[in-house]
Order: sequence, then structure tokens, then C-alpha cells
Amino acid sequence: MPEQKESPKKYRRKRRGEYSCHCCKEKKPFCWSCNCGFMICPECFAENRWGISNGPTWICPDCERVHMME
Ligand SMILES: [Zn+2]
Ligand SMILES: [Zn+2]
Repeated sequence: MPEQKESPKKYRRKRRGEYSCHCCKEKKPFCWSCNCGFMICPECFAENRWGISNGPTWICPDCERVHMME
């Protein structure tokens, strides 16, 4: 690999799939996502908020990592 700073031209990664929510299985422009691969869209997030969110944080239901909402 060439040792270069990531230039916008060379460093392009495919935007395949973008985000797909693990709850509703739909592709979304944005999802909250976890390192383990879990993703949840804002709509589902809102529905499940009571289960996974705790104020400014949310917890991945798969691996129980805690994430800040930002
Ligand atoms: Zn969803
Ligand atoms: Zn996770």
C-alpha cells in the first residue's frame, strides 16, 4: 500500500448499502450503528428507545456496547 495521506480522489470507498436497519431491514440514509455491525434507523430507534436508550446513550442490543448519541 502506498504510504500517502488519504486524498479525496484516491481514497474513495464504495458506498455500498449505506445503512440498513437491522430492525426494519430497510436501507436508510442514516442509522445508528455499532462496531459489531448492528444498525438501527432513527425511526426504529424511536420505537425502541425505552429498550435501548438511556438518556444521552444507547446500548447495542447485540453486544451491549454503550454508545453516545451524537
Ligand atoms: Zn428501522
Ligand atoms: Zn454491538
